[in-house]
Amino acid sequence: MNIAAMDKSYVANTYNRSPILPKRGKGCLLTDHTGKVYIDMTGGIGVNSLGWGDRQWQAAVSRQMGKIGHVSNLYCNEPCAALAALLCRRTGMDKVFFCNSGAEANECAIKAARKYAAETKGSDHFYILTLKGSFHGRTITTLAATGQDCFHRLFLPLTDGFVHVPANDTAALQQAVDTVPLAGILLETIQGEGGVLPLEGSFLRFVARLARERKIPLIIDEVQTGNGRTGRLYSYMHYGILPDMVTTAKGLGGGLPIGAVLFSRELGNVLTIGDHGSTFGGNPICCAGALEVLRRLDISFLQQVRAKGAYLQSALEASPGITQVTGMGLMVGVETERPALEVVEEARKRGVLLMTAKDRIRLLPPLNIPWKYLRKAASTISQCC
Ligand SMILES: *Cc1c(COP(=O)(O)O)cnc(C)c1O
Repeated sequence: MNIAAMDKSYVANTYNRSPILPKRGKGCLLTDHTGKVYIDMTGGIGVNSLGWGDRQWQAAVSRQMGKIGHVSNLYCNEPCAALAALLCRRTGMDKVFFCNSGAEANECAIKAARKYAAETKGSDHFYILTLKGSFHGRTITTLAATGQDCFHRLFLPLTDGFVHVPANDTAALQQAVDTVPLAGILLETIQGEGGVLPLEGSFLRFVARLARERKIPLIIDEVQTGNGRTGRLYSYMHYGILPDMVTTAKGLGGGLPIGAVLFSRELGNVLTIGDHGSTFGGNPICCAGALEVLRRLDISFLQQVRAKGAYLQSALEASPGITQVTGMGLMVGVETERPALEVVEEARKRGVLLMTAKDRIRLLPPLNIPWKYLRKAASTISQCC
């Protein structure tokens, strides 16, 4: 049986697989089973921050494997403590909880928000406000947080206690804050799965100000926008706002499964012994990979991400057949005259891997993609549009 047939027979049918079979990756280049080489503009959906087979990342991960691969949370471990310290130092946050995915990070933040609200305002303050068009994960609770009915329909009833308002609608937000007993506000600065739609800066600052006034924790979901993706370490840093919790995952581990919640000083001690946990949370190998990613994302690296993002956006904006380009840094959405899926298919034939978000092309290349390949990918995308 060939791989595709075996996959179809035995792997649960939840993914729409591409016809190519990845065999080897190096940097931003992927070789398939026929030997054809592609420029990867999807980055494992924003996971492979340093591309494939990065020497230093690989060395850091293998070194850790040779020491301690897994240790339970009955014990401290060095990469976990070091990663938490570095995350706090780079963000000014106070404490970190580690888990394995974005959905779990959001679950943890929702639990912390509810406990904090129960302690400070009363247990009727359990609602979490999120935005329409958002995406926060696929567990029953993070689906409830996700403001898109298409994800909900088949799985009702979802966890109670979520309200959704339209993005960029300050009046609707104000009204919800005035009438609903909230435990938290959870949002993405750029709705990724929703089509790479950035919030207006003025809306985001309005939310942050209102949340602060009413002592409602503001939780920024940086699962996709975090870890250098937008050209700052975390995307909230573009706006001069200070969240109470930041959730992240995807690119943090550079290809290993790790999620994290960063807590401000105010929220840092809300979760206490026994309140929450994760068997693999803080796994030494994943943390060693994430430490290497984080150390590489220094000022000049992030500046390069901004420069490459600016180039990519302006190259695509100038291209006929493209009606709108959105996003920040190397998180870019492209609205095309041709159906997006046709463009994806055409680009694949010409050696560039793309993906979609809603009816747009979404680009999340490795953050260290060389200029040469970035230019080539941009010109191929233009031609396909
Ligand atoms: C991908 C994503 C999630 C879910 O992350 P998983 O690791 O798949 O659970 C949550 N929020 C945002 C904004 C995402 O992009």
